[in-house]
Amino acid sequence: MLDRQAMRDLRELPKAHLHLHFTGSMRHSTLLELAARDGIRLPEQLVAQWPPQLSAADEKGWFRFQRLYDVARSVLRTPDDVYRLVREAAEDDVAEGGRWLEIQVDPSGYAARFGGITAFTDLVLDAVASASRSTGLGIAVVIAANRTRHPLDARTLARLAGQYAGRGVVGFGLSNDERRGSTLDFAPAFAIAERAGLRLVPHGGELRGPDHIAVCLDALHPDRLGHGVRSAESPEVLERVAEAGIALEVCPTSNVALGVYSSLAEVPLPTLLDGGATIALGADDPLLFGSRLLGQYAAMRAAHDLTDATLAELARMSVRASNAPSSVQASIIADIDSWLAEPVPAR
Ligand SMILES: [Zn+2]
Repeated sequence: MLDRQAMRDLRELPKAHLHLHFTGSMRHSTLLELAARDGIRLPEQLVAQWPPQLSAADEKGWFRFQRLYDVARSVLRTPDDVYRLVREAAEDDVAEGGRWLEIQVDPSGYAARFGGITAFTDLVLDAVASASRSTGLGIAVVIAANRTRHPLDARTLARLAGQYAGRGVVGFGLSNDERRGSTLDFAPAFAIAERAGLRLVPHGGELRGPDHIAVCLDALHPDRLGHGVRSAESPEVLERVAEAGIALEVCPTSNVALGVYSSLAEVPLPTLLDGGATIALGADDPLLFGSRLLGQYAAMRAAHDLTDATLAELARMSVRASNAPSSVQASIIADIDSWLAEPVPAR
């Protein structure tokens, strides 16, 4: 009971952030500023009505979400904008206890404006190195393909990611509307990334249920799953995920904003933990969901009455599921243990 009432400051809890999209990581204030600079008219959902009500439970809702994403992408016009976005994302994570970040980017969305996918990847990696130096945050990049585009594009991106393996890129992902495209068609791209030694981190088990998680496991051989929350709906699939040690990048405020669950209390974190899954909480797209890394831990603490010991274990799992070097992992985990060992502040 004592621990149940313990309320250590979650901002001080060291964490790894493994599910954050490049465009969606933008500060809202930066979006407004850059749009004003370039005379870009933003939809009211990104101004007065921010954060937007999305509900992507139907395709129309997802289309709304994508439209807002496209608008956000359109304000990034210069290399300095890219440096700024990554630096601010790093600063915000550090301010919330982040110690390691894996940021996910689909270079094809920016290729036209920044001289192609290779030039843009170089720019992002340079921005990441610079942000890492200025903030002290360890940052790695995941290149993500878009499942609404042709699977051959995904192969191109997998080869690109492979060229940067060991040079800042640690993983290969697959994003966008899970209900579109055939997952099997993306298996060749994932095989390319696997051969390059990259960690495989596709989205799956968010907008579709456990049957699709099984398909992802069979076809893509993921090390982690973006979301994967809906493995909670099938004891068999959850057991398979847990036994394979596939970490789930659970993004609670994203799930609720997109209408996957109607409330934070319905995000089945306790079921996933009881089933033995490895969890890494993430913010997904704070620009559209209005909540960053700390907000995920705070929301799950409040919704599920989590103890500080459980919150510390969530943080440890995020670190173990990361691609941080083992010495970095050990140091962060030692600091998590210290956080938990601190006496609970007087109330
Ligand atoms: Zn995502």
